[in-house]
Amino acid sequence: MDYDLFVIGGGSGGIRAARTAASLGARVAVAEQGPLGGTCVNVGCVPKKMFVYAAHYAEYFHDAASYGWQLNAPSFDWPTLIRNKNAAIERLNELYRRMLDESGVVLYENHAHVTGANEITLADGKTITAANILVATGGHPTRPNIPGAEHGIVSDDAFFLEALPNKVMVVGGGYIGVEFASIFHGLGVETIQIYRGDMFLRGFDDDSRRFLAEQMQQQGLDLRFHCEIEHIDREDSGRLQVRLTGGQQETVDTVLFATGRHPNTESLGLEELGVELTANGAILVDQQYNTAVPSIYAVGDVIERLMLTPVALAEGSVVARRLFGESASNPDYDLVPTCVFSQPNMASVGMDEHTAREQGIDVLVYRNNFRPLQYSLTDNPTRSFVKLVVDKHDERVLGAFMVGPEAGEIMQGLAVAMTAGATKAQFDATLGIHPTSAEEFVTLRESTKE
Ligand code: NDP
Repeated sequence: MDYDLFVIGGGSGGIRAARTAASLGARVAVAEQGPLGGTCVNVGCVPKKMFVYAAHYAEYFHDAASYGWQLNAPSFDWPTLIRNKNAAIERLNELYRRMLDESGVVLYENHAHVTGANEITLADGKTITAANILVATGGHPTRPNIPGAEHGIVSDDAFFLEALPNKVMVVGGGYIGVEFASIFHGLGVETIQIYRGDMFLRGFDDDSRRFLAEQMQQQGLDLRFHCEIEHIDREDSGRLQVRLTGGQQETVDTVLFATGRHPNTESLGLEELGVELTANGAILVDQQYNTAVPSIYAVGDVIERLMLTPVALAEGSVVARRLFGESASNPDYDLVPTCVFSQPNMASVGMDEHTAREQGIDVLVYRNNFRPLQYSLTDNPTRSFVKLVVDKHDERVLGAFMVGPEAGEIMQGLAVAMTAGATKAQFDATLGIHPTSAEEFVTLRESTKE
């Protein structure tokens, strides 16, 4: 065999697996046809967070006056943001290349497909053998099947728009839709976000998503529920005429489809070899991330468990460690902290109230909403919301939820406590850091209990 491990896909999961395996003495290669770092680094978490920071300045500038700062009317230059973002991402691509090189991993900058249980063929015809193959090819954003969908863009395109639109319609109520709606709105774009159901962020804590919707609407973002596009036409001017259900009509510059992602399993040759896929094209794996073919493994977005970078990193590391002599536990899929980087953030870890009750768990729910101190001198009406779901039987904290500034930063620490099995009594015994929003989690008392 040419290699002990051949990884297809140089994103978060693939690179982590490759480097871990190499550090354990394995001979490893990676094939990646695009820039290194995958979705997260190139068209996902990292550039998205840069856009989130950019969008947040509008609020800082506005609130600064109440703190005594006299600013001239600030103006925003989209090309500067894109140029600086691209340069930062290119530095990261280079860093990833160096990390692979220093780990002794061989990189093939080529499309690879699997032509045997232990054989990979590159687009240039070169054939490589490997004892183990790891598929970590990620996914890509999809468009709904509606007339005129080709006139819209997806998140991959949003990172490279040449000009900032004046008016945008964001379609979909998942992470990407909510984050981009907040980004565009923060950057001063007239933003409409439409969602087909009655409340966006399906699957998240009900109180949190309702609270977030109120905060976003209060900021002037045009949120429309039970709303779908019937068709899109492009006018001669280049603008888009969008006909919505119920006969509404809107003219916008850009329609952004944030209507879900599809695993990258086409043209990999997997099904021909007996690897089983789900109806959506995701690779089916067992607890060892092993596909139906014993030498072929898969991790990350392509297995569609939880499409989150830290999950892919953990899965990649587990596969490599198990293959090359170490024991490793799977990540705990029930305690994955996560944050929607909307404005304000919505973060959570653990089981939401609805799921707990559905599972017949007797729960105590503690919640509070308050005005963050940072806004007390300003006319900024944003409020924060915190919530704990506690098992009445043993007092264990099952879920923690927050909507508010820096909720993502705050939730990470709570995830540590909950991974350690913290009880409500231990939360109560923890001293707060005063004055912070985070301390609200250790001061939730009977008055806010239900
Ligand atoms: P999601 O699957 O989370 O959301 C898709 C949204 O589009 C849902 O609201 C869905 O509605 C709606 N939708 C789907 N099909 C249609 C359709 N045909 N017409 C109208 N609406 C439709 O996908 P995203 O693209 O937002 O994100 C993909 C994944 O990427 C996330 O699940 C997450 O794992 C990851 N991600 C994580 C981030 C983070 O950690 N901060 C940031 C961005 C992405 P319905 O609810 O009715 O199904």
